[in-house]
Amino acid sequence: MTNDFRHQFWKQQIQTSLIVCLGVMAAAMVMIWIFTYDLDMAIRIRGVILAAGISGILAPLGSAYAIRQNSRHLALHLQYERLANSDDLTGLANRRCFNRRGAARLAEAGRRRGRAQTALILVDIDWFKRVNDQHGHEAGDDVLCHVAQTLIHAAPHGALIARLGGEEFTVMCDISSHAELTLLAEKLRRATEATHIIYHGEAIRVTISLGLAIARPGDTLSALLSRADKALYGAKDHGRNQFAVAA
Ligand code: GH3
Ligand code: MG
Ligand code: MG
Repeated sequence: MTNDFRHQFWKQQIQTSLIVCLGVMAAAMVMIWIFTYDLDMAIRIRGVILAAGISGILAPLGSAYAIRQNSRHLALHLQYERLANSDDLTGLANRRCFNRRGAARLAEAGRRRGRAQTALILVDIDWFKRVNDQHGHEAGDDVLCHVAQTLIHAAPHGALIARLGGEEFTVMCDISSHAELTLLAEKLRRATEATHIIYHGEAIRVTISLGLAIARPGDTLSALLSRADKALYGAKDHGRNQFAVAA
């Protein structure tokens, strides 16, 4: 959830409570004025002042309570949204979030006119089962977090990075040329290959294979994913620790 959303929320809460407070005060003053029509003018004026004073204290208190409750609901909503959209282990966007944001990004790119194209890189850790078998599942989890961090640092600003499940990740971003995409894939591959994690004193290194696809006009996210997946199979078939571009 963006800061914009929070800003909008607080602006709306303050505006609404101002309107409610002023409305309650005006209503209280008018009612006292009307219901005391047969009394002395001095008493009527005092009554109106009293009504303004009492409602001027109670209405803001009521509004403050309502704002507090609403902000608690907002915090809970944001927490649930974060849990529903992020991967527990790595903190990256999960598949559900990727499906939603990826499709929106693709649709947005379709409407946009310009040189930038949308590219999708499917990343799969090579021989990951061996890491689990040799070092244990916990070490495997650490490797997944490490690869996630490597992708975050090496991917361009604004890229949508997600863990689709297991040891499979995706990076979706705008590129201006085919060459830019292959350079990026090579950067991600090298960054993973060049780093390692230390688990219980032992260095664990992994490599990744990557399947690359560039969106075509009218592409759906699943069509784009499926092309990247085929390319990924190609990279695995050709020996892993490399990228392949979809036909
Ligand atoms: P390839 O190079 O062909 O991709 O081989 P691989 O061993 O990486 O692929 P395979 O599909 O055989 O094994 C994937 C393994 O990933 C099996 C599964 O136990 C493990 N795995 C899936 N999710 C998790 C997870 O959240 N944590 C850990 N530690 N392991 C996981
Ligand atoms: Mg794998
Ligand atoms: Mg896999």
